[in-house]
Amino acid sequence: MLRGIKARTITMQTEKKTAIVTGGGSGLGFAIAKAFTQNGITTIIAGRDQAKLIKAQEQLGPLCIFKVLDVTDYKAIPAFVEEVESKHGPIDILVNNAGINQKKEFTEVSDIEFTNMLNTNVTAVFVLSREVAKKMLTRKKGSILNISSMAAQYGLPKVIAYTASKTAIEGMTRAMAVELSPMGIRVNAIAPGFIYSDMTAKALDSDPDRKARVMARTPMGHMGQPEDIGAAALYLSGEDARYITGVVLPVDGGNSISY
Ligand code: NDP
Repeated sequence: MLRGIKARTITMQTEKKTAIVTGGGSGLGFAIAKAFTQNGITTIIAGRDQAKLIKAQEQLGPLCIFKVLDVTDYKAIPAFVEEVESKHGPIDILVNNAGINQKKEFTEVSDIEFTNMLNTNVTAVFVLSREVAKKMLTRKKGSILNISSMAAQYGLPKVIAYTASKTAIEGMTRAMAVELSPMGIRVNAIAPGFIYSDMTAKALDSDPDRKARVMARTPMGHMGQPEDIGAAALYLSGEDARYITGVVLPVDGGNSISY
């Protein structure tokens, strides 16, 4: 008989929790917000498009609250974090999901386009994480989850700025995890593969040859659904992942391990 080993059961969500999901009005962010609200987590979805957020909130129900926020409006972020905490309680979970993409030849990308990509995909993640971490540090608990991409692992053509931004996200995830985990804050990332959303559907549906090539090198042979990211985000943000920090979890049907 093994002594001293206690079986761990899957934790039911009993404690009241509050989460922020940026870009929660659509695509992967919506699926993450859905997984959270279905598990009793009060979820603030933030984005620029109010109509989209209202529609998402209607579908997600009373545990979902929307807030119009451009994550590149860095000066607005401390007040946003204060407002969330004062109205909805301590922030337990932050998911940095909002992101933009651009497909363009390397030599055609302008300085401004490159900088804009980093502003949204990197600097905004840094600023929001910093402000939320200040709150989490006072309580010595919390989870920050960043949404990366397999573009951080591969050399993909025509996505120079996006690749730079997602590679930065993975480095930041590790740096934040090392610094914050001793104080009870776990920091992880998910690297989605090809998942159906506005971002990828447009790109792949307009290029069937590319889609066939991508699927040929995805061992599971099909694209993922946003719910696959929702489930992974719920796990990594919750108590069942209490000993996991600093990881980048691929959710990609095996794409990243395929030759
Ligand atoms: P979508 O385009 O469907 O969603 C992106 C979201 O980001 C939108 O809800 C948008 O909201 C929000 N957003 C963009 N810019 C800002 C901003 N400045 N301020 C606030 N919100 C902003 O794409 P996905 O759901 O596919 O992408 C979500 C994340 O997943 C991204 O980080 C993306 O890089 C990553 N990803 C997706 C993959 C996929 O296959 N779908 C693969 C790999 C990574 P609004 O318009 O309201 O501002």
